[in-house]
Amino acid sequence: MKPDTSTGHKGLELEEPLLFELDGRDRSGVDLPEPDLSNNRLGGLERTAPIGLPGLSEPEVVRHFVRLSQKNYSIDGNLYPLGSCTMKHNPRINEKIARMPGFADAHPLQPESTVQGALEVLDTLGHWLKTITGMPAVAMSPAAGAHGELCGLMAIRSAHTANGDPRKRVLVPESAHGTNPATATLCGYKVDPVPGNDRGRIDLSAVKAKLGDDVAAIMLTNPNTLGLFEDEVLEVAEAIHSVGGYFYCDGANLNAIVGRVRPGDLGVDAMHINLHKTFSTPHGGGGPGSGPVAFSEALAPFAPLPQVVTKDGKLHLLETKTGEAAQSFGRLRSFHGQMGMFTRALAYMMSHGADGLRQIAEDAVLSANYVLSQLQDDMSVAYPAPCMHEVLFDDTFLEGTGVTTLDFAKAMIDEGYHPMTVYFPLVVHGAMLTEPTESESKASLDNLISTLKYLADKAKSGDATHFTEAPRLAPRRRVDETAAARNPVLRWAPPSSPAQAAE
Ligand SMILES: *Cc1c(COP(=O)(O)O)cnc(C)c1O
Repeated sequence: MKPDTSTGHKGLELEEPLLFELDGRDRSGVDLPEPDLSNNRLGGLERTAPIGLPGLSEPEVVRHFVRLSQKNYSIDGNLYPLGSCTMKHNPRINEKIARMPGFADAHPLQPESTVQGALEVLDTLGHWLKTITGMPAVAMSPAAGAHGELCGLMAIRSAHTANGDPRKRVLVPESAHGTNPATATLCGYKVDPVPGNDRGRIDLSAVKAKLGDDVAAIMLTNPNTLGLFEDEVLEVAEAIHSVGGYFYCDGANLNAIVGRVRPGDLGVDAMHINLHKTFSTPHGGGGPGSGPVAFSEALAPFAPLPQVVTKDGKLHLLETKTGEAAQSFGRLRSFHGQMGMFTRALAYMMSHGADGLRQIAEDAVLSANYVLSQLQDDMSVAYPAPCMHEVLFDDTFLEGTGVTTLDFAKAMIDEGYHPMTVYFPLVVHGAMLTEPTESESKASLDNLISTLKYLADKAKSGDATHFTEAPRLAPRRRVDETAAARNPVLRWAPPSSPAQAAE
């Protein structure tokens, strides 16, 4: 449904057709001389029909992409209340460092002697990550959190295989991020779900009941996806180790504990770190991410290639299964990892220093608890306070109002906020998860709080249509997401009839 104006524009928010719909065909942004076809060496393969690309002038193309970019909700524009994603400010110093030509223009196939600085970034960042996690080894190449999980479980599988005991099952809590069971399945394991207890933590007795000598690993997120610290984590580690299994920790929530807790001290054998979450490299829109994996002594020999080592006083990329990497499971991807993300993450760490990194965790937890304390009487908190870095509400406060979690989320759009994470984690009914992060001011948190209070009051006052008709002010109202997922139209086709063209 288009906005109710003659132009289709809505205030200063401009409608934007596809480039193909703007098509002028005979227009062009460049003026090239006619090609000389006398020396055609295409052997009859030359194109005979028009190429079908839109013909547009430079200003038309510039406006198109600028208008699209203005439709993007971003952390640079407002608080981004998603839970689980750690949408924090990306300091501009990171960008400045990443754009330095020595980093930005380096090529992965350059001779090592010419990229010693880039290798030092890899090595120094690895050193910080090992120090922060309290773990002796790190693999830098994984391209995201989910890829890090794959890396961790491939190392675990290699360790069991090397031991002549491949094993079959991986324990995964019911509250886990979907990537955990997906990863275990991809590695050929059977996922055995473990229920939580009434305090929102993993049920230790259920873990113990499921143990057996066919269990390869447990994948536990700490703090977990309900925003709570797993307070029996030491017992979980001891239990899994007692049957020869490994402890994979999903480290996506490191922001809550960085500088305060070393996962290595909790008995963790492998853990990915989402640089694009905790260490503030930009994310959203599908990437790029970066998910280095820290390993315990037991798993370090199986870590992937390449590895940065020192050889004859110079840094060197070990790319073959030799020497200390003889048992490596091999390469996970082409080249060495997300160099731009490494540079940004290291700039972030060095500009904060050890004390600053610790303060990140403290302030992130403080922000979340402030939001929780201000909203606990207006909305319903899924588990009693305090929380770690994120606040989890359920839909009890909407009972009898005719408003669902989805409606509530859509009404946030009309108020100028991207919705929270909704319906995740699955173990909480009508979940609404928000992670304010340490980079929001108190004034910014207060704005979010008063907006959510206003909406909660409005829902309870019986004004359900305010929600069921939301968003009223967005460029598009509610789209049929199910139809879009089942019948994705990914390719523009010229309208076949004038009626269709006018639609
Ligand atoms: C974000 C997240 C992941 C996946 O990380 P990606 O970088 O998006 O692949 C895994 N687990 C948890 C708990 C997360 O929040």
